[in-house]
Amino acid sequence: MPRIAYVNGRYVPHREAAVHVEDRGFQFADSVYEVIALMGGKLADEVGHLDRLERSLKELRIAMPRSRRAMQFAIREMVRRNRIRDGMIYMQVTRGTAPRDFKFPSKGASTLVMTLYPASYDIPARKAAVKKAVTVPDIRWKRRDIKTTALIAQVLAKQAAAEKGAYEAWMVDDKGYVTEGSSSNAWIVDKKGNLITRPTANNTILKGVTRSALQALCKKEKIKIVERPFTVAEAYKAKEAFTSSAVALIAPVVEIDGKKIGNGKAGDLTCKVLDLYMDYATDEHRRQERWNPK
Ligand code: PMP
Repeated sequence: MPRIAYVNGRYVPHREAAVHVEDRGFQFADSVYEVIALMGGKLADEVGHLDRLERSLKELRIAMPRSRRAMQFAIREMVRRNRIRDGMIYMQVTRGTAPRDFKFPSKGASTLVMTLYPASYDIPARKAAVKKAVTVPDIRWKRRDIKTTALIAQVLAKQAAAEKGAYEAWMVDDKGYVTEGSSSNAWIVDKKGNLITRPTANNTILKGVTRSALQALCKKEKIKIVERPFTVAEAYKAKEAFTSSAVALIAPVVEIDGKKIGNGKAGDLTCKVLDLYMDYATDEHRRQERWNPK
């Protein structure tokens, strides 16, 4: 299978894809990214991910490297050249290459790279998977609403989870409330069947594109979402728990810090929400939800 990467307008063999040693993404994490699921040849929530990419760039005053149309064309070209129908598109924009200096360079273009990885979307297997989470302190900066590649706190969190046999780390603020997963938004279900997830106000979490779509889908289905912070203690006693992200979609969490959640299996509402999302994301004719930064 060919593996083709995209670097600043060129499609190159993956093993040869490279940026300069003085690229600011490499030196300062002066850079943002997006990940889009490709399911059965359809790009899930492409519109929302590009909305958020534009907003992250604007917040950091990095120029959009290409027009949105040109980026959409390049994404499709990556899918075509890699001959993949199920995978993940990774795209990253940096402030570009310049002699090392903290201040913004006075000239130069931003860097755009893309890679495409194969993935499998076996939904029954995902529902049956025993996914565990652990909690860790949230040690990140205060602008978590911007999707930057400054991910060292999440790297450490995910490693801590992996070392305990868990797939995700739920990060916890100084008051004992869960902020989000290291690469996902965190959700619980209460006894009344309400979905509970942390509000995005005050920039304490990333506003997930999948989270955003779930808000619209649940509204239509009359599934109530309550946006409020929840504690780790509350999560232990929740009826169900799950995470949302472009990579893991809606992933049931059946154990947190060694404590079984509900009956220790993927919850009914979790499975329903996953099915809703899959129907939405893989429907060729359905209008994609916009991502709302507020
Ligand atoms: N929070 C964090 C910290 C993340 O890294 C991600 C994954 N990008 C998410 C939430 C979920 O966002 P999305 O649904 O847009 O993938």
